[in-house]
Amino acid sequence: MKPPPFEYAAPASVDEALELLGPAPDETSVLAGGQSLMPLLNMRMAQPRVVVDLGRVEGLDAVERTPEGQLRLGSMVRQRRLETDPALRAEVPLLADAARHVAHVAIRTRGTLGGSLAHADPAAELPATIAALEGRLVVHGPNGARVISAGEFFLGPLMTAIEPGELLVAVELDPPPKDAGWSLQEVARTHGAFALAGAAALVHVGADGRIDRARLALLGVGSVPYVPDWLDEMGVGEAPEESLFRRIGERVRDEVAPFDDVHATAGYRRRVAAVVTARALAAAAARGNGRGPA
Ligand SMILES: Cc1cc2nc3c(=O)[nH]c(=O)nc-3n(C[C@H](O)[C@H](O)[C@H](O)COP(=O)(O)OP(=O)(O)OC[C@H]3O[C@@H](n4cnc5c(N)ncnc54)[C@H](O)[C@@H]3O)c2cc1C
Repeated sequence: MKPPPFEYAAPASVDEALELLGPAPDETSVLAGGQSLMPLLNMRMAQPRVVVDLGRVEGLDAVERTPEGQLRLGSMVRQRRLETDPALRAEVPLLADAARHVAHVAIRTRGTLGGSLAHADPAAELPATIAALEGRLVVHGPNGARVISAGEFFLGPLMTAIEPGELLVAVELDPPPKDAGWSLQEVARTHGAFALAGAAALVHVGADGRIDRARLALLGVGSVPYVPDWLDEMGVGEAPEESLFRRIGERVRDEVAPFDDVHATAGYRRRVAAVVTARALAAAAARGNGRGPA
């Protein structure tokens, strides 16, 4: 299948890209890694008049520290880099763990962090991971820059807070404590397929052997990443034991609202949600400073 005809533009800067988006944002598509957009074009599910390729925009693939010490990842950072860059892996190992679950190496080599977040597939790993990491998404548009929390960025399946004419330029993160543990666990029908459900977790166990910080976000169990707002209340101050993680998984199972589709029923996804939640929390607790369960 071939895409419909379109004009192609390859701007060199964010300002140039915004100018190209300006006149008719609804008829213009942004191209990042193309791993979701190209199939949509080929199937004629998207028929833009203009495609603006971000591949040559200077600085969008940068990984930097902000003056405040946050990690700033440009939207064009490739998924494969999240997985393999030793410095990034050391700072945010949860991102590397998540990236390796995205599709196959060839797809991750082209696919970008920003493309995955802007595409907002409910079963995608990176949106849930950025939600677990409490990332902030930096969007530029004709009226300047906006910073949107991950909790407010994802609005529904393939829907985000990016307005027509705006571009996602970066994601900012506070790197988790060095001795926090991390894990992304998922169940997929085959290696490289989208997950039926998954969970991204960060756990920090204090010197007293009790959890002092935990973050969790699920994918594939609703229209946006599911972040339980009761996790601190249930987990902080508790010993990092399997029984606790199982109870948290059961509460997640009872609260998520997954869909039935051709791959799995909603009921099955709920059960998977309980299992991956318990597994991700246990693996994260075991990995951190070694104070979790063996
Ligand atoms: C066979 C296959 C299997 C896959 N399996 C998985 C999987 O298991 N897990 C998973 O998470 N993903 C999976 N994907 C999707 C893939 O990882 C894509 O990389 C990702 O969804 C989109 O990233 P991209 O950089 O390719 O974006 P593109 O395809 O270029 O763009 C995606 C969408 O985001 C918009 N966009 C991109 N960048 C920006 C920006 N900076 N600002 C505003 N809008 C923007 C585009 O206009 C488009 O609408 C799979 C894809 C394929 C082909």
